Amino acid sequence: MVSKPGSRNNSAPDLVDFGMFQLSALAISDQLRQELKQIVSSKPYPLLIIGNEGSGKHTIAKCLAASYLCDSVKSDGSACGTCPSCRMILSSGSHLDLVILDPGPSGKSKVEEVRTEVAGRIFEAPRISHNKVFIISAEKADTLSETCQNALLKPLEEHPAFVRFIIFCEDSDRLLTTIRSRVQMLRLGQRSDEEIRQILNEAGIEDPAAKSFALDCSDGRPGLALTLAQDEKYRQIYNESLKLFKAFPRENRTAFLIGGLEFFKANKENTDMIIRLLQSFLRELSLALLADKRDRVQTVSQVFSDKELADWAKLKIDYEALLKLLSESRRALSSNTNYDHTISRLLLQMRAKITAAPPGS
Ligand SMILES: [Zn+2]
Repeated sequence: MVSKPGSRNNSAPDLVDFGMFQLSALAISDQLRQELKQIVSSKPYPLLIIGNEGSGKHTIAKCLAASYLCDSVKSDGSACGTCPSCRMILSSGSHLDLVILDPGPSGKSKVEEVRTEVAGRIFEAPRISHNKVFIISAEKADTLSETCQNALLKPLEEHPAFVRFIIFCEDSDRLLTTIRSRVQMLRLGQRSDEEIRQILNEAGIEDPAAKSFALDCSDGRPGLALTLAQDEKYRQIYNESLKLFKAFPRENRTAFLIGGLEFFKANKENTDMIIRLLQSFLRELSLALLADKRDRVQTVSQVFSDKELADWAKLKIDYEALLKLLSESRRALSSNTNYDHTISRLLLQMRAKITAAPPGS
């Protein structure tokens, strides 16, 4: 049997899979744009990009790599798009002078890979570009083990001037202090609604419901917003969550509890999203009912029909208690409480806080 030569891990994730690799094309704040420009033009220092899942770490790492590899970087720090390096990225989605060590969010890098792919290659002269770029994922807690991090220390400290390191992670506290002391940190915060809208527009997403769903649930994280707006699975969760919300005052207690718990359990990995959706429906409802009281002329909600609003208006709803209850449940679930128990309690308490008829009706 012929064995494959070195199962290398640098089958680079497609650099152009986002349809862009230029910093100038990113929908980001002016402040972040300035920071990135400075990183490209400043002294080479290993960079650590820190941000939540979907915050744009991969995209920014790829754009920065393209800039580092580009022969004639633009004044804003963007790759030019026409030099041999840029053309190689555009045509093949990868680059000979780019090494990517990224086993994916659920994978783990092996220490031998750090030794052969990083430590073993940093002294190889670049082949096309004037720089050689290493993108290394330390995304989740065990993506880059302590042993791997230790193997990375020396390369981070001693490498030729043409080497650029871009490491990314969700939580820098999980990394060794010795790694943190050797890198320059770039924290990706939340993007504004306006920036997220722009990103969704650029991705060609037109459905207003998809847009508002993505805005509601993405927490200012562009990658997550795109996934939410484009993935049919999430649209379904949205629709079913809305159905569940609308069933609160209608269904009887037992049917509601059983159906609700079943839905939550079937979508357990998206529980946090479902609770956030319930929160957003609740806010929408309170705004719509408030507006409805003041001006009954026009429909005020895209989520609730006039008829539904009229029905809801007959109920007494303690919004503040409900929002608090939802937040508490999100917290409780993140600390490993009994899932079924917490969800059942949430469903029953929510229902109790919604169904009571208003006094004097
Ligand atoms: Zn270029």
